[in-house]
Amino acid sequence: MNSKSSDCNVTVIGAGPYGLSSSAYLRAAGVEARVFGEPMAFWENQMPAGMCLRSNWGASHIADPQHALTLDEYCRQKGNHISKPIPLDRFVDYGRWYQRRAVPDLDKRQVRSVELGARGFKVALADGEEFISRRVVVAGGISPFASRPAEFASIPSTLASHTSEHNDLRKFKGQRMVVIGAGQSALESAALLKEAGIQVEVIARTKTLNWVGLHARLHHLGLISKMLYSTRDVGPAGISRLVSMPHLFRRFPRSFQDRTAYRAIRPAGAGWLQPRIAGVPITLGRRVKSAAVAGSQLRLRLDDGTERLVDHTLLATGFRVDVSRYPFLSPSLSKQLKTVNGFPVLKHGLESSIAGLHFLGKPAAWSFGPLLGFVSGAEFASNELVRSMSRNGSN
Ligand SMILES: Cc1cc2nc3c(=O)[nH]c(=O)nc-3n(C[C@H](O)[C@H](O)[C@H](O)COP(=O)(O)OP(=O)(O)OC[C@H]3O[C@@H](n4cnc5c(N)ncnc54)[C@H](O)[C@@H]3O)c2cc1C
Repeated sequence: MNSKSSDCNVTVIGAGPYGLSSSAYLRAAGVEARVFGEPMAFWENQMPAGMCLRSNWGASHIADPQHALTLDEYCRQKGNHISKPIPLDRFVDYGRWYQRRAVPDLDKRQVRSVELGARGFKVALADGEEFISRRVVVAGGISPFASRPAEFASIPSTLASHTSEHNDLRKFKGQRMVVIGAGQSALESAALLKEAGIQVEVIARTKTLNWVGLHARLHHLGLISKMLYSTRDVGPAGISRLVSMPHLFRRFPRSFQDRTAYRAIRPAGAGWLQPRIAGVPITLGRRVKSAAVAGSQLRLRLDDGTERLVDHTLLATGFRVDVSRYPFLSPSLSKQLKTVNGFPVLKHGLESSIAGLHFLGKPAAWSFGPLLGFVSGAEFASNELVRSMSRNGSN
């Protein structure tokens, strides 16, 4: 059933940190916005129970214009203490608390499609309601971009699955597992599996594991620490400062931006994971050359000629942005979008080559740097969005 509802000024798709934060800023600026999505759904459904955030306390507040909805305020109002590193379930609860205060009229329905019409964007919801929106802000996250290595393309997900397909790794109890990858997700999954008494090996291409947060001393040097590290907590000393200033960062030559962005977000585990993965076999500098179903198991052949026969392989192989994979963007809209390697090319206001269509979060990282892939980038994104809409008279 299709039903028409009245036109709206701005539609925000997504109710994760970016959708919630930008909606709070738009409202504070007097911009009317309809906001859609299940609050914190990605964090609750597609990350493993028992996980902790890698970002530190100061970088995990969801930004709001009055700085009144911080993690500290959440703890104060709820009378709760949150341990550090921040447990996932507490962060999800914080996000929902934020939503009830900043975006109480959030509409939990899914957006089914967005297409360009004569009077603006035609937005259709999953239940058939349709309306016209002058602007659309895509804050849809990274879920559709889960990257599955080609070697596993034909393997059923019962035998090889991406980390984002799970919210509880205890279901693998009694199985023999391999985790592929060397980033936070791989190492934390291995820790959670080991702690659940599950036999697990980590296999990664990298020759050494990288760790972050091992130089605590550098964070306690007063002014020097402030010069080296931004509170945004993205990247190592020095780079942390640079990437926290997206307008400056984007002025550098592209090759420098790419190298620096990689250094800021290269696969690495938080230092506090080290003791938790002690005893887990880790094979580094090796690639899975082929994977084949062997009865009810999976046979992995590595590039050193060795084999593993496992019950399940967990692919902690990250996400590769390709905005054409957002299922709600109409093919004609995707075709018109100017993109580079799947990322939309954005100008001020995080506005794409299609006027009135904005992208927040990780898809904005090619244009504004790696900060946009993290919760702490939401303040920049929200301010930028509001400034451009005020300039263009959207309120
Ligand atoms: C395992 C893991 C750990 C991470 N840890 C950290 C960390 O410690 N710190 C950090 O800063 N970042 C972390 N990240 C990165 C994190 O994904 C981003 O920081 C954060 O999710 C960005 O918020 P977002 O609002 O862009 O996306 P999301 O939180 O993914 O929110 C997007 C929302 O949009 C909704 N949506 C999508 N399509 C539609 C639709 N058609 N209609 C309605 N709603 C829709 C989704 O349901 C979802 O709720 C981690 C990522 C992973 C995978």
